[in-house]
Amino acid sequence: MPFQQLKLIEPLMRALKKQGYVKPTPIQEKAIPPLLAGRDLMGIAQTGTGKTAAFTLPILQLLSQDPDPLVPTSPKVLILTPTRELAMQIDESVAAYGEFLRVRHAVVFGGVGQNPQVRALSHGVDFLTATPGRLLDLINQRHVRLDGVKFFVLDEADRMLDMGFIRDVRKIVALLPHHRHSLFFSATMAPEVTDLARTLLKDPFRVEVTPERKTVEKIEQRVLFVDQGNKDKLLVQLLRQDHLTRTLVFTLMKHKANKVAHMLSQNGIPADAIHGNKSQSARVRALENFKNGRVSVLVATDIAARGIDIDDISHVINYDLPNEPETYVHRIGRTARAGAEGTAYSFCSGDERSYLTDIQRLIGMPIPVMDHALHSESAKNETRQALSPQQRSRGGGGGRRFGHSSGQGGHGRSGGGRPFGGSSHGGSRFAPRRPYRR
Ligand code: AMP
Repeated sequence: MPFQQLKLIEPLMRALKKQGYVKPTPIQEKAIPPLLAGRDLMGIAQTGTGKTAAFTLPILQLLSQDPDPLVPTSPKVLILTPTRELAMQIDESVAAYGEFLRVRHAVVFGGVGQNPQVRALSHGVDFLTATPGRLLDLINQRHVRLDGVKFFVLDEADRMLDMGFIRDVRKIVALLPHHRHSLFFSATMAPEVTDLARTLLKDPFRVEVTPERKTVEKIEQRVLFVDQGNKDKLLVQLLRQDHLTRTLVFTLMKHKANKVAHMLSQNGIPADAIHGNKSQSARVRALENFKNGRVSVLVATDIAARGIDIDDISHVINYDLPNEPETYVHRIGRTARAGAEGTAYSFCSGDERSYLTDIQRLIGMPIPVMDHALHSESAKNETRQALSPQQRSRGGGGGRRFGHSSGQGGHGRSGGGRPFGGSSHGGSRFAPRRPYRR
């Protein structure tokens, strides 16, 4: 379907042309008509599907017909999003899609001085994109009021819940006018997410896009079995050998992201790290350097990487395998954005072997093994399960990951609740390895 069929106004069509978009993505195709007709929307979609344009374009179109003048400190559109990176990207998208409508927009998030944000709001804006904490601060100081909001977008609602923002979100929602147009996006629909949606939306139109399978199939995936101690060396070898023009490397922990970036730089591979402990300006700088090609490798943790909108990522490397298989899909989906092709390499050590099994089960196919000089046959053949966070917090020894009652390789219940024959304080090589705090 071409964009023409969506009946978007000329200034929007011009902006889309400038962006180089040829046809709408599935979520745009499904969501734009009901939104233009004034319906509330419940969108089940993740970043990377084109959802930002799916909600921004119809709002811009409806606003272009709105005769009310701008009022200082009182935005007409409020977009709430969990992370600063995402907030900045949405604001950039609003600017891009609204370029020929002279839309006024501002973005507010914590971690930076509030004065420029306050100044921007004081002139009056159409669109305000915000993270919840900073928005509440500004509301409390009377730099923003929400009684003029006509469109409310709650983006990444599941992440809002995960990150503990639900109370802030509810406080903000309570300040919105009753009569408004509401849009709700979430990658997943857990019961709490559904509950929240129900309180926000009126007779919503439901749109679901599940790009995972398709995305995953488009990405060339390889698993590299390697011992934990050889991962650094393998990473350097891989980054030197292949034509990895723009690579996102994932680690589970913040400190590991720093260590890996430092290690790469010392080996002559310019790299930067991005994670929650970095200051906002350091994160922005790292992203900019990566976008403009000054560094070709960005090392990130999952939360920091979520929502980063960088096109042309040629490779994703999982330095650590995630213990949640869905995270794997999110990570590798960073490459092969909007039709591009990409490659994902995953390092898998013996203690991560069971995570690989879970991932393959989720994506419904085996990931081909890549041969390399540091290949670990023992990692490949490892059959024991890694421990879950709950098991670790109970002492690290007892039980198998899925609660199977018997062990493999002769270590069953007879091991006194220590199926791998390790000590209850992590003598098992599986117990202490996996950091779960991110
Ligand atoms: P989003 O899911 O909103 O983060 O968008 C993901 C990426 O897809 C962004 O880089 C957008 O610029 C891009 N994009 C959005 N819509 C289209 C489209 N119709 N055609 C091509 N690229 C698009």
